[in-house]
Amino acid sequence: MDFKKIDEQDLVFFRSVVGEEFVLTTPEGLAKYAKDETEDLRFPPEVVLKPANTDEISRIMRYCNERNIPVSPRAAGTGLSANSLCIYGGVMLTIERLNKIINIDEQNLQVTTEPGVITEQLQNAVKEKGLYYPPDPSSRGSSFIGGNVACNSGGPRAVKYGVVKDFVLNLEVVLANGDVIWTGANVLKNSTGYNFTQLFVGSEGTLGIVTRIVLKLVPHPQYTLVMLAPFPSMEQAAAAVAATFQAGIVPSCMEFMEREAIDWVCRWLGDVTIPIADDVRANLLIELDGNDLDVLYKESEQLYEVLTRFDCGEILFADSDAQKADLWRMRRNVANAVKTTAVTIEEDTVVPRYRLPELLTHIKAVGRKYNFRSVCYGHAGDGNVHVRIIKDELTDDQWKNEVPKGVREIFEKVVELGGTISGEHGIGWVQRRYMDVKFPAMQLDLMRGVKAVFDPKGILNPGKIF
Ligand SMILES: Cc1cc2nc3c(=O)[nH]c(=O)nc-3n(C[C@H](O)[C@H](O)[C@H](O)COP(=O)(O)OP(=O)(O)OC[C@H]3O[C@@H](n4cnc5c(N)ncnc54)[C@H](O)[C@@H]3O)c2cc1C
Repeated sequence: MDFKKIDEQDLVFFRSVVGEEFVLTTPEGLAKYAKDETEDLRFPPEVVLKPANTDEISRIMRYCNERNIPVSPRAAGTGLSANSLCIYGGVMLTIERLNKIINIDEQNLQVTTEPGVITEQLQNAVKEKGLYYPPDPSSRGSSFIGGNVACNSGGPRAVKYGVVKDFVLNLEVVLANGDVIWTGANVLKNSTGYNFTQLFVGSEGTLGIVTRIVLKLVPHPQYTLVMLAPFPSMEQAAAAVAATFQAGIVPSCMEFMEREAIDWVCRWLGDVTIPIADDVRANLLIELDGNDLDVLYKESEQLYEVLTRFDCGEILFADSDAQKADLWRMRRNVANAVKTTAVTIEEDTVVPRYRLPELLTHIKAVGRKYNFRSVCYGHAGDGNVHVRIIKDELTDDQWKNEVPKGVREIFEKVVELGGTISGEHGIGWVQRRYMDVKFPAMQLDLMRGVKAVFDPKGILNPGKIF
C-alpha cells in the first residue's frame, strides 16, 4: 500500500491540534504502542497521537485522509489478533484520554460513555446504581469499552446475557474523512434503514473511530452460586454443556478448562488452594445468578442431575465470596499463565455448543499430526473454545510453516461443524490469512466494498481483516 510518510510539517499540524505533550515520536514513546497482547509482534507507529475529544479526532482524520496517511485507532492494547498495530506505520491514534463516563441514565437503564473507560470501571460505576453491564472479557481490568465495542467482545457472562453487540444502542463515530455521525438512536428498538450501529460493532477500527457509546443496562442480579465440576474427559465435560441448556437451565457462566489449563494456571499463580484430583481431565466452572436464592438452589440440584449423567466427580460449591473469587481468578488467568511462560499463539474457535466434543477431539488429533501441544479453555456455554498452541521444542521452520497448516485444519473442521474462525477476538492482522476458510471470494469482495464506502482511500487501520 502506498501511504505518505509522516514529515515535520505533519508533526507541526498534529501538535497544533492535540498539544505538544500528546504527540509521541521518540523510540521509547513509540515502543509501548508497537505491540499488543498478540504473540511477540512489533510494529512501531511513526507517531502516537493522544487526542482529547471528538473534534480533535475529526481534525486529525480530515488531515490524514487528504494526505493519505494511515491511522490505526488504539484502546488499551489487550487485543489478541494484532488488530490495533500499525502494520504500515503512520499514526497510532489512542483514545486513552477519552475516559469519562458521561451519564448513567437510571430512568432508561442506559449509560453514555467515552470509549477510553476501563471495562471494569464502567461495570463498577453502574453497579453502584444497582445496574449491570454484563459483557466481561477476562481482560476487563485493563481493556477499554471502546476496544470491546470494536472487537464485539464476549466473556464468560455472554452465555446468558449476550456479547457487546447486544448492549450497544448508539455510537458517535468519526469517519475516515473527518465527518462525525451518530449511527442510531438511544432506543431499544430501531428499524430505520441500514443498521450502521451493528456494522461498526466488531469492525476493528477499519470503518471509523468510535468516540461515544450508548449502552443498554439491566438490573444487577443479587445472588450468584459458583461451582467447579470435574470430569474424567474433555469430551464428557463438553457434552454436559449442551445437555445443561437442553434441560432448561441457563447458567450465567459455563466455562471450560482442560486439565493442562488448570495445571498451568495453578503453577503460575502458586497459591491456589482448590484441590484437583489426579484423574480429573477437565473442569466446568459454572455460575448461576438471580434474585431468589431458593430458586438458585433448586436450579443447582437440577444441574447436578444433568452433570452426573456425564460422570461428573464431586462438585466444589464455593462457600464464600473469597472462594468464588479464587475460582474466577483461576479461570481468568489461564491465558496469562500460558503466554507469559511459553511461546504460543491463540486461536478463537466457536461452534454450535453441542458440537464441542467433536471439536475438542479434532483439535488434539491435529496437534498429534503436527506435533504441537495445545491448551484448550474458554466459554463452553457459547461453544467458544480458545486453543493456545505451544511452541515447545518445535523448530522456527515448523512453527512458521507447519503449525499454520494445522490451524487451517482446525478452522476447516470448525466451519464443517457449523462454526466460525473467531468468536470474540476478531480477525485483525494474524487471522486474515484464514478468512477464505469461512468466506468465498465473492463475500470477501462484498466486505471490501463496504470498507471502500466508508474509507475509500483505505487509510483506517490498513492490513486488518482482509
Ligand atoms: C488475558 C486476556 C484475556 C482476554 N479475555 C477476553 C475475553 O474473555 N473475551 C474477549 O472477547 N476478549 C478477550 N481478550 C481480548 C481483548 O482483551 C479484547 O479484544 C478487548 O476488547 C480489546 O480491548 P482493548 O481496549 O485492549 O482494545 P485494543 O486492543 O487497543 O484494540 C482492539 C481493536 O479495537 C480497535 N479500536 C480501539 N478503539 C477504537 C475506537 N475508539 N474506535 C474504533 N476502533 C477502535 C483497534 O483498532 C483494534 O482493532 C483477552 C485478552 C487478554 C490479554
